[in-house]
Amino acid sequence: MDLQRLKRRLQELKQPSYRLQQAARSYYQDLANGWEDLTTWSKDLRAACQDSAWSPLTQIAALESRDPESVKFAFKTQDGLTIESVVMRHDDGRNTVCVSSQVGCAMGCAFCATGTLGIKRNLTAEEIVDQIVQTARYLKTKDGRVTNVVFMGMGEPFNNTDEVFKAIDLLTSPEAFGLGARHISVSTCGIVPGIERLAKEFPQINLAISLHAPSQDVREKIMPVAKAYPFDRLMRAIRSYMDKTHRKVMFEYVMLEGVNDSLEQAEELADLFNEHRHLAHVNLIKYHETGKFKASAEAHIKAFQNVLKRRGISVTRRVSFGEEIDAACGQLAGKI
Ligand code: SF4
Repeated sequence: MDLQRLKRRLQELKQPSYRLQQAARSYYQDLANGWEDLTTWSKDLRAACQDSAWSPLTQIAALESRDPESVKFAFKTQDGLTIESVVMRHDDGRNTVCVSSQVGCAMGCAFCATGTLGIKRNLTAEEIVDQIVQTARYLKTKDGRVTNVVFMGMGEPFNNTDEVFKAIDLLTSPEAFGLGARHISVSTCGIVPGIERLAKEFPQINLAISLHAPSQDVREKIMPVAKAYPFDRLMRAIRSYMDKTHRKVMFEYVMLEGVNDSLEQAEELADLFNEHRHLAHVNLIKYHETGKFKASAEAHIKAFQNVLKRRGISVTRRVSFGEEIDAACGQLAGKI
């Protein structure tokens, strides 16, 4: 729902300001499906405002994984493009929505299915938030609610920073969705100005870095962004974020056989953190074979993990969700 547009319309119609709050409450909190559910308004007023879309996205598919621990949604934008979001249902009752911030992605990471799509356009804040509102409607039918949001779907959030930050404002505002800032994470492939702005403007939001390599030479082979924002500059920005916010940073690391998974590279990775070790958390991800790489063997991932543990680095394996519905990391490619 585009609140600014609706506000203008209500002003034209000389309506009191509480009308906007009624509409916002109905959309964000009651999770109503459409204008017809806004029964505190007269039929005429609803009809006069209907040129503002209630939901800017239309859900075209919802694919549950077999167990069913994750659901992948496909949405159509008003200009006919397809985006995807995933909800991951955890055993402890948390429900994490992974949202897209762009249609496609320009960054071209070699291990990522979304990266093969190229970029079509940025999503608006309303389109970003509508993914979460529509997922919340789905969860409501299962007696669940959205507890966490991660910007890890299609796109690089810091290539669309203004709209992503507007979406975060709407998600955290008590008058809108009302989610706690600490329940939101933004994941970037390493866009340094975005990291700097996050530290300044949203120090409560969690930062995740798609690192995937312990050094510049390996990183630039698999992630073209490393040429624009070289490794040293990126690490400086991350350390400065840690110093300013005192918040833990999650480092995503996809395990690619023979590329970034040697035990020497595990030592190199550990060396990066030094005095910031207590604020670093490494998440090792099993590669879902979508392209030219091979996934590291299970035993090898364990050995890599053990090196990090021995060096005092907090490290986990990402619980893999929804592999069979192409909803795992790096698999959102608009295929449903
Ligand atoms: S990993 Fe992220 S930044 Fe890289 S191509 Fe995929 S969606 Fe884009």
